[in-house]
Amino acid sequence: MLKYFGENRELQRKLKHRKKELEYAYLKLLGPGLFQHFQKCVENLITPVSFFSIEELGGITRMQEVAVSPANKFLIAEKDVSVAFESNGSFAVAGDLVTCPAFFFHAAGFSQNSRMYSKCGVPPDLGSLIHEYNHFLLYLLQKTPFTELLLHCLEFLRVPAWPLTDELMCQFILSYYGDLPKQEIANRLLLGFFVSALYWANEISVRAIDETVFKSLGFKPRGYFNYPKKTVKMLTIPELNAGFGVATGDPFYGFDIKSRLERILDWPTYFRPSNFIQENFLRSARTVNFIRIPFTSQMRDELREQIKTDR
Ligand SMILES: [Zn+2]
Repeated sequence: MLKYFGENRELQRKLKHRKKELEYAYLKLLGPGLFQHFQKCVENLITPVSFFSIEELGGITRMQEVAVSPANKFLIAEKDVSVAFESNGSFAVAGDLVTCPAFFFHAAGFSQNSRMYSKCGVPPDLGSLIHEYNHFLLYLLQKTPFTELLLHCLEFLRVPAWPLTDELMCQFILSYYGDLPKQEIANRLLLGFFVSALYWANEISVRAIDETVFKSLGFKPRGYFNYPKKTVKMLTIPELNAGFGVATGDPFYGFDIKSRLERILDWPTYFRPSNFIQENFLRSARTVNFIRIPFTSQMRDELREQIKTDR
């Protein structure tokens, strides 16, 4: 069901032991059609070469800060992709966006959040693996995987670390783009705030899925999923003589898991734009053609070479 090729023997044992329960949990969550698709994709897209070491990780993630952080991760690698972003929020992809899913699990990653999982009665290694697989699940089932676009957008904005609070995003954009015309700075801010809101919608939804799966497995994850309702706060920026409404909290608060899933899977349709930057971003997102292929040994060798030459 959920595959893991790594050094944590105990986790391998747990996955084997809970295979049927995990299948049932995802079947219950997704329904027969999507479940079959999920299973087929795990089968076809995830192989031993999809699991990365910390040395290789730097080669496939764009942001150094992401690469050095010890958390376990679901990763998306790309093949010859070019995405051109504009400050008005629109972007264009030359051809199809060909991506390969991958995972990074390691001992420090398993221990990093162990208290959070233990506190709500979930074995930390299993909990962390399920969380990363739920990111993979959204990547599979979103016609336009948001995480992939986020990385390109962050690269365009040259945001140095992620995630960022809206206040830090603001500080960064004002100092980095301070010489640009005010409208250009404002555009970048709006884009930054929007991808941040989408990032949290995505992350929070993954945790809602985690909670559902944990419960199906018989755990009682009290306090694991606990996000306030979405609110919009006003951020005043004297440098631009302007105020910006920024969203925080759970945009799907109160929805059951099926309705939440439906919305987060089709996010370019469900998010209602509140300015032209958002409108452009969502419109562009609806036009991208994503292809998902498995990571191959050849790609992995190429990557190793690339890492060698980068140093
Ligand atoms: Zn996550």
